[in-house]
Amino acid sequence: MATFKVQNFKYLITCNKCYKQYVGQTSTKLKERLNDYRCNIKLHKNTTIAVHFNNPLHNISNLSIAPTEQIDYKFPAELLCREVRTILDDYITHNN
Ligand SMILES: [Zn+2]
Repeated sequence: MATFKVQNFKYLITCNKCYKQYVGQTSTKLKERLNDYRCNIKLHKNTTIAVHFNNPLHNISNLSIAPTEQIDYKFPAELLCREVRTILDDYITHNN
């Protein structure tokens, strides 16, 4: 466990219903992280993302996730800053 190599990178979650954006950071594969989100939403967990995508008129198909390296080309910094929230806290506890 102590020798686990951490390879952090950041990613952006966008709700394509209301265009709310969340920035997160993960040390695991993006695909695995997305599976976590899907699972949390399904189970109605009390996390920022799960609560958002369990709102009325929302569902899992409104969630898009991408590494910020890719997104940076499409979105100016001020747009990123406007509605970003860290969801890292959820996963610090999760990963420890
Ligand atoms: Zn939304």
